[in-house]
Amino acid sequence: MKHFLLLAGLTVASLTIQSESASAQSPSSASVDAPAKFLGYQIGEHFTPHYRVLAYAEQVARQLPKRIKLIPYGTTYEGRQLMVVAIGSEENINRLEEIRTNNLKRIGLMDGNPTAATQPPIAWLSYNVHGNEAVSSETFMDVLYRLLSSSDAVSQKIINTTVVILDPGLNPDGHDRYVNWYNQMLGRTPDPTPSAREHSEPWPGGRYTHYLFDPNRDWAWQTQEITQQRMALYQQWMPHLHGDFHEMGVESPYYFAPSAKPYHEDITPFQRKFQQTIGDYCSRYFDKNGWLYYTRERFDLFYPSYGDTYPTYNGAIGMTFEQGGSGRAGLAIEKADGDTLTLRQRIDHHVASSIATLESVADRPAEIVKEFGQFFDKSRNTPIGAYKSYVIKSNGDAGRLKALQQLLERNKISYGYSGKAQTVATGFNYTTQKNDKNVSVAADDIVISAYQPKSTLLKILFEQNSALEDSATYDITAWSLPYAFGLQTYGLAARINPGSTQPAAVTSSTSTTATSRPYAYLVRWQSLPAVQMLAGLLKQKIRVRAAEKPFDVENKTFPSGTLIVTRAGNERFGERLDALVRAEATKTGADLTPVQTGFVSKGSDFGSDFVTGLKAPRVGVVIGEGTPPPSAGEVWHFFDQELNYPIALIDGNTLGNVQWNKLDVLILPTNYNYGRYLTEKNLSSIREWVRAGGKLIALERAASFLAGKDGFNLKEKEDKGKDKSKDKSSMLDSLKLYIDRERTAIADDIPGSIYRVDVDTSHPLGFGLSGGYYSLVQNAYNFDFLKDGWNVGYFKTNNYVAGFSGKNAKEKLKNTLVMGVQELGRGSVVYLADDPLFRGFWYNGKLLFGNAVFMVGN
Ligand SMILES: [Zn+2]
Repeated sequence: MKHFLLLAGLTVASLTIQSESASAQSPSSASVDAPAKFLGYQIGEHFTPHYRVLAYAEQVARQLPKRIKLIPYGTTYEGRQLMVVAIGSEENINRLEEIRTNNLKRIGLMDGNPTAATQPPIAWLSYNVHGNEAVSSETFMDVLYRLLSSSDAVSQKIINTTVVILDPGLNPDGHDRYVNWYNQMLGRTPDPTPSAREHSEPWPGGRYTHYLFDPNRDWAWQTQEITQQRMALYQQWMPHLHGDFHEMGVESPYYFAPSAKPYHEDITPFQRKFQQTIGDYCSRYFDKNGWLYYTRERFDLFYPSYGDTYPTYNGAIGMTFEQGGSGRAGLAIEKADGDTLTLRQRIDHHVASSIATLESVADRPAEIVKEFGQFFDKSRNTPIGAYKSYVIKSNGDAGRLKALQQLLERNKISYGYSGKAQTVATGFNYTTQKNDKNVSVAADDIVISAYQPKSTLLKILFEQNSALEDSATYDITAWSLPYAFGLQTYGLAARINPGSTQPAAVTSSTSTTATSRPYAYLVRWQSLPAVQMLAGLLKQKIRVRAAEKPFDVENKTFPSGTLIVTRAGNERFGERLDALVRAEATKTGADLTPVQTGFVSKGSDFGSDFVTGLKAPRVGVVIGEGTPPPSAGEVWHFFDQELNYPIALIDGNTLGNVQWNKLDVLILPTNYNYGRYLTEKNLSSIREWVRAGGKLIALERAASFLAGKDGFNLKEKEDKGKDKSKDKSSMLDSLKLYIDRERTAIADDIPGSIYRVDVDTSHPLGFGLSGGYYSLVQNAYNFDFLKDGWNVGYFKTNNYVAGFSGKNAKEKLKNTLVMGVQELGRGSVVYLADDPLFRGFWYNGKLLFGNAVFMVGN
């Protein structure tokens, strides 16, 4: 590709590391193609599509089969191959499976005794988790070539001591979204002018997965197909070190460990020390080349679902690398200081930190393996944290339990069942946040013991409030699973050992014989499977109704929201109805109860007006420029993947063309362009449509946008804070140091904290939430209670549970509406101040969102 030659002229600082590797020859290297020979252009002259990156790895594997092994691990949603390569000495590659299984046996994640052979450390480098940080996949090819072709002492040392696993691209859909776009924008030579269109990546950008999730917030939750497949492989290897390669803004030079504060309190002294070691090794390479870098700023080690923290909480040394560039930089971009940053330079920096990191492992293989082993020994024998076991009450909802179990299994956290009724002297009750005496544990309650290899991860995912040593963090500060799942949980100081078999009581109640011919089927409305079942039934045009009030039938009590499928109204399905309903229950795991009568002993009979028919709504979501892509992506993913229910994605620019009579529900996620999209004309069409029976669901900033607008009853409270500036103490507060400006700003901040919501569970928006609902709060909103409408969820003065909330933010969140419904004509407007689908991991939010879509306004 000759037209790239001019660019090569821009790479003035062709560096030591590069020239060394290019000239290096070893007996084995003669047969390995350099990337340039294979690709037809020098690395850095062009962005390489994912399939070509993999093809290069395959070429190298053909040429040096004894030193590299390709390990395909799945396919992306858009059909692209996922693969890692393992490289090492001939001897290690030959016994790779033994190395892998020995590692698992040594840390207790596989039964059996390891063989006597020496355990080499496993160092895993992940490239390009954010698709438009495309420098990383190019880096992969250079690192692979350098390690396998070079006879220099460093490469030899790494190969001979360490098993290196390289993932060329964790998010190929995002990578190709960026690369295909960029290559279309490019003329004969790259244009470094920052305002040139090749530096303005269009919405949604390649950073995200197919469904617009941020894949580097998903390591623990594993909601995305790429994460699920990769983590299954990760658990089979359990590397000793994991490096995650990123890019940041063009003007920032380079970042490597040590990380910024806060560090999570459970990061071990050795892991902390190794942050420094990585810094020592990387800085040596960067100093030699005269490159700028920084450490200890911006990127912290706290939130457990990143590519550095997750491995750290799994015993590894974990770190992030950040190069200046990302989706804006292209092949070359002029920076503010007038210098031009080229792709080649960005690659060189990532190659250097990759090699430096591997070298830091290769210099102390025995120490790393020993420390890793000790981490797991301690986990199994003297686990950290106040709680030595956790009890999760089954309370009859198999759906929530199953979802939690799946999350535990994906993270290889082992659990079991109590197996017998027992009483424990004392336990911390997550719901009341107090210690209870005489906690009774039922046979079918889940028991998780802290005495297990994944103990640290368990402790961190369950901790009620994570200790924050410094409040200037980058992400949410609370994630405690009992609140996310809405599961009644106890933390016990006592050790209880779970039994492994599931007591019969937990099995679902759908076991009634298929031959019985009930009067109706009832589905308890208590968690996601019920929503999935409703969506499945409505899609098949099966008539479903919901009980507005609790009722008793055949000696069982059913809560409000219970779905009722009667033969009456579904005559056209004839005898097929039973099979269809049962199939949906089996598929979704919803709790199905067949009954022989519609005559209730308490509540309303099935033919009553209080039993409302549910419509199959035609749903749309506003998407496109101005939306933080995950905000819209979460809604899309929820309908498409979790409910398998149709949703129209409507570009904000085309709101003026919507045929409103073809839509029943419109969802507005946060979008910063509503000023443009929701013009007076469009808002007036929306109001008319709601009055005629439509339902508008406004999330987060969309709710704030509607507040105070004509026809919408939501109001923001007047800012009483202003008067306070007169009193002396807050005058003193305002004396702040310039150097502290980042920290001072966070008094208004709430990066993501857990608050308990007071819920009116008699309203359809609150159905099924009687076990309590906790919201993950990320904005300090302050809405007045609706004067004309239903205040379904709200905070009073004492609803804070966990996480960091700046003091001004905490004040604002007192006496505020969180979830509200306004009736407007025949339709309704649902206001949700928080995002119940945040990152797809707030399990209880899925039921709440299901209420908003299917239950409200019928
Ligand atoms: Zn990134």
